[in-house]
Amino acid sequence: MSKSFDVVVIGAGPAGYVAAIRAAQHGLKVACIDEWKNHDGKNAFGGTCLNAGCIPSKALLESSELYHRAAHEFKKHGIRVSEPTMDIAAMQKRKAGIVRQLTGGIAGLLKANKIEGLVGHGKLLAGKQVEFTPVDGKPETINAKHVILATGSTPIELKVAPWTDGSIVDSWGALEFDAVPKTLGVVGAGVIGLELGSVWARLGAKVTILEAMDDFLSMADRDVARVAAKEFKSQGLDIKLGAKVTAAKAGSKGVKVDYDDKDGKQSMTVEKLVVAVGRRPFTDGLLADNAGIDTDERGFIKVDDECRTSVPGVYAVGDCVRGPMLAHKGSEEGVMAADLIAGEVAELNYDVIPSVIYTSPEIAWVGKTEDEVKKSGREYKTGSFPFAASGRAKAMEQTAGMVKIVSAVDDDEVLGVHIVGPMAGELISEAVLAMEFSASTEDIQRTVHAHPSLTEAMHEAALAVDNRALNY
Ligand code: FAD
Repeated sequence: MSKSFDVVVIGAGPAGYVAAIRAAQHGLKVACIDEWKNHDGKNAFGGTCLNAGCIPSKALLESSELYHRAAHEFKKHGIRVSEPTMDIAAMQKRKAGIVRQLTGGIAGLLKANKIEGLVGHGKLLAGKQVEFTPVDGKPETINAKHVILATGSTPIELKVAPWTDGSIVDSWGALEFDAVPKTLGVVGAGVIGLELGSVWARLGAKVTILEAMDDFLSMADRDVARVAAKEFKSQGLDIKLGAKVTAAKAGSKGVKVDYDDKDGKQSMTVEKLVVAVGRRPFTDGLLADNAGIDTDERGFIKVDDECRTSVPGVYAVGDCVRGPMLAHKGSEEGVMAADLIAGEVAELNYDVIPSVIYTSPEIAWVGKTEDEVKKSGREYKTGSFPFAASGRAKAMEQTAGMVKIVSAVDDDEVLGVHIVGPMAGELISEAVLAMEFSASTEDIQRTVHAHPSLTEAMHEAALAVDNRALNY
């Protein structure tokens, strides 16, 4: 007899495993299917985020940042050390250890919550049945009262620059280099391209980033993008805007990359090329022809605001549906879907999802940019505070950047907060919470912030919105 579950989740990335845990917390009988295989051939839960995305990239960003600071900043603090050297194998081993611990932790969490973790492929059939094919096993059919699809996304391959083992790689490949390339090309100056470019540039690679768009970080506030561009340039990252790659081919001398820019046809040769031009929803082999699930023209599974698909009882969450491709967005959708299945009222505020770029300085924002507010026609006011005027930032020797707040004139509501500077990814949480509770700018102004802390920059930026900054 085939197995039956209250909820079957397909995909154990941050969207899927979190959905499974929340469903189990409701006392539901849950199975979570995942087929992820690492380069060593071993299966692991955790999806892109834990195995090939958020976590390994942050591990390498931390190592490379420490190396860079040891080489360039220690002297300023009076710390005298001989020239630091980088042991790439040790750096990669540390990263792999973190990934192993965290992915093993997910397996433990599933077990602790009495979720059946099924390693293999899941396919949605008609009538909320799921075909599960274990790794090296025969397909079996599972009955589900509810299904949550959480199959994530995969890197987009450029036809003109096809993956070439070890030379033209995706973001996962760029996390696995066993030596610092002398020259590195990156196609795409988005979040992933900038983070990976930063890692290898800090370790000594000469990095050139080719970006097809004319605007740098078009999704970010213009003031923040301007500061970030200046900082990256001073770090030696060569970011070429309006540069469209027309061909890339690996040869004996490296990868030859042809691109067009405003001056015409250009060419460069690099040791390795990372293609980071975005990700597409991954639904390969997921849906039987008669499953009844609608997808859009870009392949995203169509869902409503509550992540319901076109089939009653089937939800879809995370990167495989519309919205920003971010782990925390997927996790919160997973929680919402599981709560709704359990009969609770649940919703997700899509207007208040923070974005972070873990470069140095970090970049983080939530809500609308100044341009977006301007376009909306609502009267607004802005205030900013530079980290150069923050005592804590000075003590940290990290004074680049600022906090900028955009607020409404009519009711003083905070509409957007944009940060470029130290720990921006942590600082943004205060803004997220404030906006989630529809805080006014005055609410932040009248909130006590610890001294000396980077959070004072948020406080001062809120004061600056009404021309009342105290320390600038
Ligand atoms: P995934 O994490 O992709 O998980 C989907 C899982 O489903 C996978 O394990 C896959 O094997 C499995 N699967 C797919 N189809 C099937 C099937 N039919 N049967 C069984 N299993 C299946 N986001 C952030 O928020 N912060 C960051 O700092 C950040 N850094 C990133 C850095 C890099 C280099 C990359 C590539 C991404 C980064 N992201 C970051 C994005 C983040 O990784 C994704 O948004 C997140 O992983 C999406 O979660 P998900 O659960 O929807 O999908």
